[in-house]
Amino acid sequence: MTPPSSDWTPIAEEAENAARVLHPESNMLPKPDHRRVLTVANQKGGVGKTTSAVNLAAALAVHGLKTLVIDLDPQGNASTALNVEHRSGTPSVYEVLLGEVSLAEATAVSEQSPNLLCVPATIDLAGAEIELVEMGNRESRLKEALSAEAIDETGVDYVFIDCPPSLGLLTVNAMVAAREVLIPIQCEYYALEGLGQLLSNIDLVQKHLNPALAVSTILLTMYDGRTKLADQVTAEVRGHFGDVVLKTVIPRNVKVSEAPSYGQTVLAYDPGSRGAMSYMDAAKEIAERGSTNGSRSGTL
Ligand code: ADP
Ligand code: MG
Repeated sequence: MTPPSSDWTPIAEEAENAARVLHPESNMLPKPDHRRVLTVANQKGGVGKTTSAVNLAAALAVHGLKTLVIDLDPQGNASTALNVEHRSGTPSVYEVLLGEVSLAEATAVSEQSPNLLCVPATIDLAGAEIELVEMGNRESRLKEALSAEAIDETGVDYVFIDCPPSLGLLTVNAMVAAREVLIPIQCEYYALEGLGQLLSNIDLVQKHLNPALAVSTILLTMYDGRTKLADQVTAEVRGHFGDVVLKTVIPRNVKVSEAPSYGQTVLAYDPGSRGAMSYMDAAKEIAERGSTNGSRSGTL
């Protein structure tokens, strides 16, 4: 949501939105100077990790950037939202972690766009958290699978790793495999609760396993403009994290929650909705500011 300029009118804004929806290709986003791998993490469930991973990926894809979503949650919600096969036995992130199949072999193309790829999660991943404990290099198995050569083979510009709602070994694998962490924060009362623990885990991974790791992006989700509380949370998060927080805030929007039941992202389901527009704005910000923006981790 950009602030209105002096010649702003509701009709001009509608016209601009319509043009963006009808001709996304006229609004290509810059390719990153290196492949960007973002881990979407927050150990709280229901804060918008999956929704943000798939919709940001879809938004980058419609603007010409080839994007891969790695579904690292045994619930397989990202695979569902992208309508990618994820029955047990399908080559998935589980086999990738075991080293049985390559990243490219487990990658499926979504029907929404040839630019939108997904490595699905099957229910087999539910056992991985425990199985990994016994394995060698248990924290870096995803990183090994995401080597520069493996990513080259898929030809993607962006990778989003959708984490489960825990700080276990799957999330640690995601943090070791990425340079950037994207934290979605829901604009509600307990928004900041648990964030300290997430940040100290990120610090630990950064110190011991992946020096390049940084929190590059915080995205405020499910904003409800009718409540004072949403504004208080927004102000508090911006006060703590400054520029790492995207200017775009994702509103609570029913189209966003309906889309997955049709096996679609909100961009495909209702491209003119406020939800779709705001994910497009957020993706644009991510693409335009690159990965160099702040790196605030530390404590809360
Ligand atoms: P997580 O992956 O962190 O557990 P989800 O992305 O699955 O969270 O979101 C939790 C629930 O909230 C889902 O039912 C999703 O459809 C809904 N949801 C997420 N973002 C929005 C939004 N902006 N507006 C309305 N519903 C949303
Ligand atoms: Mg999820």
